[in-house]
Amino acid sequence: MRYVTLVLLTFCSSLVHAMEIRYQLHMPKPQNHYFEVEMLISKNNQKTIDLKLPVWAPGSYLVREFSKNINLVKAFDEKGNPIEVHKITKNHWQINSQGKELVHIKYEVYAFELSVRTSFLDLSHGYVSGAGVFMYVDGQKSLGGKLDVFPYDDFKKISTALPLGEFEEQKRASTTFTFKDYDQLVDCPIEIGNQEVFEFMAAGVKHTVAMYGDGNFNISDLKRDMAKVIEAETAVFGVNPNKNYLFIIHNVVDGQGGLEHCNSTTLSVNRWTYAGSEYLNFINLVAHEYFHLWNVKRIRPIELGPFDYDHEVYTSLLWVMEGVTSYYDELILRRAGFYSQETFLNKLMSSINYVEGSVGSRVQPVAHASFDAWIKAYRPTENSANTSMTYYSRGSVLGAVLDAKIISNTKGKKCLDDFMKQLYSVYYVKLNRGFTEAEFKKELSDFMGQDMSDFFARYVDGTEVIPYASIFGELGVKVKETTSTAPSFGASVRDEGGTVIVKSIRAGSAAEEAGLSVNDEIIGCNGYRMSQGMLDGVMNGLSVNDEVELLISRDEILQSVKVKISSYTRPSFSLKAEATPSVLYNYWLR
Ligand SMILES: [Zn+2]
Repeated sequence: MRYVTLVLLTFCSSLVHAMEIRYQLHMPKPQNHYFEVEMLISKNNQKTIDLKLPVWAPGSYLVREFSKNINLVKAFDEKGNPIEVHKITKNHWQINSQGKELVHIKYEVYAFELSVRTSFLDLSHGYVSGAGVFMYVDGQKSLGGKLDVFPYDDFKKISTALPLGEFEEQKRASTTFTFKDYDQLVDCPIEIGNQEVFEFMAAGVKHTVAMYGDGNFNISDLKRDMAKVIEAETAVFGVNPNKNYLFIIHNVVDGQGGLEHCNSTTLSVNRWTYAGSEYLNFINLVAHEYFHLWNVKRIRPIELGPFDYDHEVYTSLLWVMEGVTSYYDELILRRAGFYSQETFLNKLMSSINYVEGSVGSRVQPVAHASFDAWIKAYRPTENSANTSMTYYSRGSVLGAVLDAKIISNTKGKKCLDDFMKQLYSVYYVKLNRGFTEAEFKKELSDFMGQDMSDFFARYVDGTEVIPYASIFGELGVKVKETTSTAPSFGASVRDEGGTVIVKSIRAGSAAEEAGLSVNDEIIGCNGYRMSQGMLDGVMNGLSVNDEVELLISRDEILQSVKVKISSYTRPSFSLKAEATPSVLYNYWLR
């Protein structure tokens, strides 16, 4: 209903105001880190034009306030006379256009944060994450248009998934791209510089890789291994909706992961990730972001596109979008031959132990973790471990649980792939929209042939321990649940220039009972000065009920704190396939 209303409104307004928008992107002096943006608006008949800049970038659920980087917003008429610009809110500028047919807007964007969701410019390259760079005309997001990119003189290449404009428009100084609507413009990041570019075919799709920065990569290995992942993921859905796909890869000191788009992705990785055991982490990241081209970019909750760029958009389904994607980023590595069955099972076991062993897992249901991503997952604090469960980890375990249930219910005729395929064909292909939470629940119940309300109540909206033994037992996996009990201090510390500072305290731990706080400096223990290593050594050697006396400094006041070591019990699960793996097991981990 909401969707239908939206479409009608947009349709009517674009009929009345057949405005045309052309963006120009300049970067004349990269060392100052400013992109200069021009918006040429023609066929305007509005008295005022409302310009807005998104406050967040899709895929990254945090209000980032991109307008903090915007300066010198100016508007001019056809003759170059200035037009008044009023600031209405933090990310909203109103141009007093008085119905003038041509309006020329200029502003600059400070770009000095290199990440997959922000923009960057220096003498080595430029990276544009559109949400923080391109303003939109309020009410006109459905309008298509053109973008002319004017690279800095020394930058020879432009890599983006935006379609190229007409050939005659490709001038020496600029390259023209087109976009069908604002969502597409900001969904296609742009890499500008002297990146190394290579191409390969996989699943009938032409893939381009744009490598910024040095690294120990071997292009022929990458072509072979990325293709394996792409083929295996396309086989899940039976269809790859793209003709072209672009990987922008930033090879840097501290890699930060990736961000998904409809027909591209940006990966930020450590430049030495391409060898040894680290290499599989890279392949894993490729598998994760590529899987998103289906799951979240096309199969999606209704809130995740078309987007409200002005506010947080709330969904309880990130455990499906991110969690199920995380399940598949491992499963695909098994299917593509990078993992043995045993390796995969061990990875799943670690995830289960992390999830069920975390204090926060009993506090925050995964549906709440998803809904509150904006204020919790993306804004972690020293207390997060006590109160949060990540929708990536619990969501991936839930993905494995659903897969196992489908396989055992259908005696190996169907698996989670079939459910994902169904979501794709019903909601993306047929209805071309996202689903509501109620629709998702109904779709899952119908597919499973059983009411899934209890499953949601216990494990998604609730925090119960999942009955792994019965679920994976059906596939011939022996699950042994034990508890591990160990003496525990319960505080973690960090070294800060030779001082030992308390970083976090587990709820209910000996450290909490003793009255220790985060940020306390631990100077000594039992009369001896402590370094981080010494303190860890002392604490690891203690037994339950042992007492130690700590000398701490809190706000530069010295205090003595008595700690009585307590025991910490957590559940522990071991998963082992039967000596002769069952048919269902071999189907699951084929
Ligand atoms: Zn993801």
